Amino acid sequence: MLFTSYIELSKSALNNNIQYLKKKAGPGTRYSLVVKANAYGHGIEDLLPMVEACGVDHVSVFSLEEARRALEIKKQACDLMIMGFVDNDHLEWVIENDISFFIFTKERLDAVCKVASTTTKPARIHVEMETGMHRTGFPESTLEYVANKLLENKENIYLEGLCTHFAGAESMENFERVNNQIKNFNRLCSWFNKEKGLIPKYRHVACSAGVLNFPDSSMDMVRVGISSYGFWPNNETRMLHFRNSGFSEDPLHQVLSWKSRV
Ligand SMILES: *Cc1c(COP(=O)(O)O)cnc(C)c1O
Repeated sequence: MLFTSYIELSKSALNNNIQYLKKKAGPGTRYSLVVKANAYGHGIEDLLPMVEACGVDHVSVFSLEEARRALEIKKQACDLMIMGFVDNDHLEWVIENDISFFIFTKERLDAVCKVASTTTKPARIHVEMETGMHRTGFPESTLEYVANKLLENKENIYLEGLCTHFAGAESMENFERVNNQIKNFNRLCSWFNKEKGLIPKYRHVACSAGVLNFPDSSMDMVRVGISSYGFWPNNETRMLHFRNSGFSEDPLHQVLSWKSRV
């Protein structure tokens, strides 16, 4: 007995959650499994191969360091996306490694345009728009600038995504505000399309609570973290779900268990 306690990760629980959430998101929606924060404490290196074995071919991280770790272990067929901040010094590395990434400031967009004119690959960017979260994202007043930059640099920059992030989609007290975020987002996407002729490959806004509480939010891709691991975003979402669907059993199974031998 080398250890008295150990952590066990269940592939069947992970697969159960992924299949359940994929079904919720609907057919044709790409499933990106969020493995930021060391795969929510499960360990990127341990979890990522299990995620791939469950048929998921897109993972999202927040930081560059997490991207470096994921890149080392993931299969080539699995796409990697950085949702947080990438500084100018690392843009070249990110682009050459085929990693897609969020852009949410003019300064960074300018820097990407410069760097991407010298790299062998185009930059795969996701333009994050401010729709009501007030964390990161381009405010509407800057989108004219963004769209024109994309058009000027379309040889080197690929608009892979338009996206936004919800503020508190797990709480029903935010129901109206999140619905407004979805409306705003759709309006801004059609502005890109109609005024600028720009259509992204993926429109994506939904985190776990989006997939579970706002069916309209699944769109072309979903970014699912906590519920993939078998945890509900909060008790309110869990309770609503149980009541509405009449489940007697929890459709989500916890991936992690802590075991001890006596
Ligand atoms: C963390 C995060 C997610 C996933 O959120 P969950 O609630 O864990 O599903 C999705 N998108 C962004 C931008 C995030 O930072």
